[in-house]
Amino acid sequence: MRTAAVLTEYDAPLSVTEVESVTPGANGIVVETDACGICRSDWHAWKGHWPSVPTDEHILGHEPAGTVTAVGDDVENFAVGDDVGIPFNVACGHCSSCWSGDSHLCSDGLSLGFTGDLPGAFASEFAIPNADFNAVHLPDGMTPVEMAGLGCRFATAFHGLAHKADVHAGDWLAVHGCGGIGLSAVNVGAALGANVVAVDLNEDALALAEQVGATATVVAGETDVPKAVQDVTNGGADVSVDALGIAETCRNSIDSLAPQGQHLQVGMTTDDEAGEISLPVDAMVGSELEFVGVKGMPPSRYPELFNMIAGDKLTPADLVTNEVTLGDVSDRLASMDDYGTLGMEVVTEF
Ligand SMILES: [Zn+2]
Ligand SMILES: [Zn+2]
Repeated sequence: MRTAAVLTEYDAPLSVTEVESVTPGANGIVVETDACGICRSDWHAWKGHWPSVPTDEHILGHEPAGTVTAVGDDVENFAVGDDVGIPFNVACGHCSSCWSGDSHLCSDGLSLGFTGDLPGAFASEFAIPNADFNAVHLPDGMTPVEMAGLGCRFATAFHGLAHKADVHAGDWLAVHGCGGIGLSAVNVGAALGANVVAVDLNEDALALAEQVGATATVVAGETDVPKAVQDVTNGGADVSVDALGIAETCRNSIDSLAPQGQHLQVGMTTDDEAGEISLPVDAMVGSELEFVGVKGMPPSRYPELFNMIAGDKLTPADLVTNEVTLGDVSDRLASMDDYGTLGMEVVTEF
């Protein structure tokens, strides 16, 4: 048996209970969980924003790191005792997306913890299929808490800013929303050489943003945010990130851009938007703005991220503000209802 925080009803406390053990398939591994990040994506799933998430004793949790405890016969790259992290986009390894290096967009892929076919890691152990393709070894010196702190947010922010948007040294980057993924985007943008202006309602979040690389901040709320960003950047941001996913931050991000700027959408929408946000299309055409989406990062690109952490250019551990137990997860998710969390929170007791 293993201990898990189990979802039986949306927007209701998870039940911490004993559930069936897991075994590895021929190409899979079982991992004893040492740490698992708590993320706004977990909150979306818990609230019922994504009906694909089942409520029949489902287990959330998609940002784990841990120790391999069992290995399938066909696994070549992992052994019992290895320290591993698991990027949440679990892929087949043989479709055209996987072969072309975009396994996070695998046509047969599963998102860890977001589907009944692949229960997550808010549990003392979990299983991962096709491990040679989907797991990554933790580099020397990286702790499970650091890996869990990276979670989907650092990986997504890194893939979005380092690989998809054109962020150059000296560019202005605006980041709208300084929760976990927004702070990650601040840290990554600064490491890539951008001047970063961070935007949030919460002044504590902005103080954290300054600690991890923001050179300017804008307190949202009463302020005309796009005008404030246009003023700070002397004409608009070259790249602007909506790290929240509500209509207001998405629109503010686009309206903050300089001509030919790029809007990077990393936040997923809430019940209010249900996936739809209206955009200033004529203005976007007139200024040749781009709208870029990003979701996760393929495991094959994690070494780039690890290299920047090893060189202290990226400091994900600085963003981990709270270590909690499995029994605390419900409370921490509920506190996201009114944006009551700061930085990244990680489960370290199972
Ligand atoms: Zn695939
Ligand atoms: Zn996440």
